[in-house]
Order: sequence, then C-alpha cells, then structure tokens
Amino acid sequence: MINALTVDVEDNHRIVARNMLGLEGPPEDAVVGNTHRLLELFRAHAVRGTFFVLGEIAAKFPELVRAIADEDHEIGVHGFYHMEVHRISAERFRREIGDAKALLEDLSGKAVRGHRAPSFSITPATRWALDILADLGLHYDSSIFPFKGRRYGWPGFPRDSHRMVLSEGRSIIEAPLSTVQVWGRRIPACGGGYLRYFPHWYTDWAIRHVQRERPAIVYMHPYDIDTRPPPAWLNDALRAGGNPARFYRTHQQWWRRTVESKLRRLLTRYQFAPLGEVIDRVLAADSEAGGS
Ligand SMILES: [Zn+2]
Repeated sequence: MINALTVDVEDNHRIVARNMLGLEGPPEDAVVGNTHRLLELFRAHAVRGTFFVLGEIAAKFPELVRAIADEDHEIGVHGFYHMEVHRISAERFRREIGDAKALLEDLSGKAVRGHRAPSFSITPATRWALDILADLGLHYDSSIFPFKGRRYGWPGFPRDSHRMVLSEGRSIIEAPLSTVQVWGRRIPACGGGYLRYFPHWYTDWAIRHVQRERPAIVYMHPYDIDTRPPPAWLNDALRAGGNPARFYRTHQQWWRRTVESKLRRLLTRYQFAPLGEVIDRVLAADSEAGGS
C-alpha cells in the first residue's frame, strides 16, 4: 500500500497572531528553514509528497516554492492567508484561492491540482467551497475530516477518496483525511497535533489500521519539527493581551521535540507518494474494478 505524505506550509506564529490577537504581518523566515529540514528528511528517505502552500508564503518566499517543486514534490494550495472557509465570503474564497493557485503555478511551472482548506474547514455548512474549487480547475480537495469533531469534521462522510457530484454538472474528487474506527467511533489519526501529542505507537498502529482498507493520508506542518520557543514579540503580545502565553509555549514546544524521530520511523517503515498520485492510483483501480 502506498500512502500519501502531505505538508501544510504555513507560519504558525503569524496565524496565532492573526487569529488570537488580530495582528496582521508577513510570514517570518522560520518557515523556510523548517521546510528545508523536511525536504532534507524526505530526500534522505527518497520520498516525495504534496506541499499545500499558503499564497502569503509563496508571495514572501518564492524561492521556497521553486525549491519544493525542483525536488519533484507536488505543489497544492492551502488558501492565501489561512482564513478558515466559514470565516470568509464565497467571493473572497474564490479570489484568494484563484490568486494563490496562479502564483504557485507561476513559480512551480506546473498546474496545481489539489487544495486543502485551513483547519479542515470544509464541512456541511461550507460545502459551497467545493463548487468554487471545481470552477477554479482544481482536480481534488483534501479538506474533509470524516468524523464528528469539536472544531471541524463532517460526520458520516465516506472515508474513501471518491468523485463528488456538485451543482450544475460540476464534480471534484474528495480525499478525506484518515480516521480510525475505535469502539464504533471514528477518531482522527496520522498527522499534525496527533503526530505531536500521541506516542509513536499510536500513529504506527493507526497507519497499519487505515492502510488495511485504503491509503493513509499523513499530514504535518514545517513548524511541527521546530523546537525553538516562539518569538519574543508573540509572547509579549499574548501576555499583554492576557492570553495564556505560557500554555501556548509549553503545550506546543515540548511535544515538537518528539516529532522528527517519529517521522523518521514512519518514513522508514511505510511507502509514501504525493497525494495526487495516490488518488490517481485509487481511481484507476476503482474503474478497473467497474466501480464508480
Ligand atoms: Zn494550515
């Protein structure tokens, strides 16, 4: 079984500042170094993946997009300013995805086929976003977490990658994030916070469990492997605003020390490919089997 390796390329400190403090500002250099560390790690294991890049990262660090594309990884789009879909209008969503996609295509010299929404924010309430993605020529989306979550999720959504029929003859392929079934309930697995906070055996068990039936979709961020404390300006601003800066610091940083070694073990043990290629393989097998 060949699983999908995906990275959401963003500056987490800037997103925290924007969402918690209303402070706007350009992404900082840390994302460049962290992404290069991931690129090195993937190179060392001869693995290719999909990098869903924010428009604001591509605008500030065009060389980073070229470096990712030069190593034959797939480039996808992750929005422009990391605005969750339910927080913006349909018009703004259309404009920002269109702008980010055009910029990424220009820099990479390749068509962008895939999209991942910030914070998995395509849910039954924001289903309209899929129509816009189809209009913009996206081939697939990988934003739906098929479980009942507190902040996100689409309970009961099919767990296999499949073509979704949308309005007025449109369609798009949805590649839902991986979940495991435990005591009759679906729980998320295989990435991000789950990779940070859960012990290695959990992710290892989850991938084995998922790939019995379908490819696992592993996801991470460049900052997941950054063990440095947040910048002073962010800590100061959080403290001044009465926000739990200390909690943010310990909550995130302590666990990040464990991520790189977990990742090395996963890259050694399992096979990975870019998500676009994994989807093509799944759909080709379906049509051979006479499926839909
Ligand atoms: Zn993100």
